[in-house]
Amino acid sequence: MSAESPDTPESQNELEAMLAKALGKAVPVPSEPHASAAPEAAEAADDSPRRCGLIAIVGKPNVGKSTLLNALVGQKLSITSRKAQTTRHRITGILTQGAVQYVFVDTPGFQTRHGKALNRSLNRTVTGAVGDVDLILFVVEATRFGLDDAQVLALLPKETPVLLVGNKLDKVHRRADVYPWLQSMQERFPFAEYIPMSAKQPKDLKKLLQTCATYLPEQDWFYGADELTDKSQRFMATEIVREKLFRLTGDELPYTSTVVLDQFKEEGTMLRIAATIVVERDGHKGMVIGDGGERLKRIGTEARVEMEKLFDQKVFLQLWVKVRSGWSDDEARVRSFGYE
Ligand code: GDP
Ligand code: MG
Repeated sequence: MSAESPDTPESQNELEAMLAKALGKAVPVPSEPHASAAPEAAEAADDSPRRCGLIAIVGKPNVGKSTLLNALVGQKLSITSRKAQTTRHRITGILTQGAVQYVFVDTPGFQTRHGKALNRSLNRTVTGAVGDVDLILFVVEATRFGLDDAQVLALLPKETPVLLVGNKLDKVHRRADVYPWLQSMQERFPFAEYIPMSAKQPKDLKKLLQTCATYLPEQDWFYGADELTDKSQRFMATEIVREKLFRLTGDELPYTSTVVLDQFKEEGTMLRIAATIVVERDGHKGMVIGDGGERLKRIGTEARVEMEKLFDQKVFLQLWVKVRSGWSDDEARVRSFGYE
């Protein structure tokens, strides 16, 4: 059956009607914006009281958490990649719009492979990240729910509102599949709202933000209106190298490889940055370096260009590759690399 089957609602309104039917209640989704309700119009609500709160984005690897965060805060802060488990740190992205300040927390996703020190550290990050927030976005792929999703769901506290974000709706060819799926999700957890959407669809993102705002407490902002992240430049530098590393090695390189910052120094108008890529085996070292050093050179060039854009400064970047056999099993060493 093609994507144009009669099962596919033509418009967003039909999808909303289906939602209402599936959930047995009206879903508070704002209607299509009129010409007068441009994004700037929302910011005219200056006299409404300020709201601010923490929003955790949780879900198994690869459901689109980083994509969502980046799209919401409008800038590349967290790292996206097709490789699972490349997000190891808790990252906040901050968005201030109108009277509302959204402080987002990205998490690495619940790791299903237990036993290694690295994964234990990752799991603590997840449970730590959802403990102190005002709202949780539980991200899954629309019409799907597997064991990995269930394991993350089991970690969520009952006292914090949780929105079900059914992401990648654009990949669902039969929209009619959404209806039974929503009903089954309703039986799994008392979600506060059900939001089938696509992180790549600006209209969906706007609606998600409007829904999130209603769950944030009325209080003053935690950060200045133009702050985007509370992560340091040093942290961002290693994240950028890490993203290029995993992107350019594809699926060959195990996620246990990491990047350690050796130097971050202002020299006149220039930043001097040195970092070491730590891999587990000699074979991995070869993969990172590539034929005649070609791949390492490309990782370095792409990382430098992105750093210069982000820091708005000339960057001199030096990269090294080191083999540190078995390091992911050594908890003390994991901690010294900054995963706690
Ligand atoms: P994370 O591991 O949950 O942080 O997932 P990522 O944000 O790294 O995304 C994993 C993959 O899914 C990437 O290739 C994204 O481009 C893709 N992706 C994310 N959101 C969507 C979406 O709404 N639609 C589609 N088609 N792909 C998406
Ligand atoms: Mg991610």
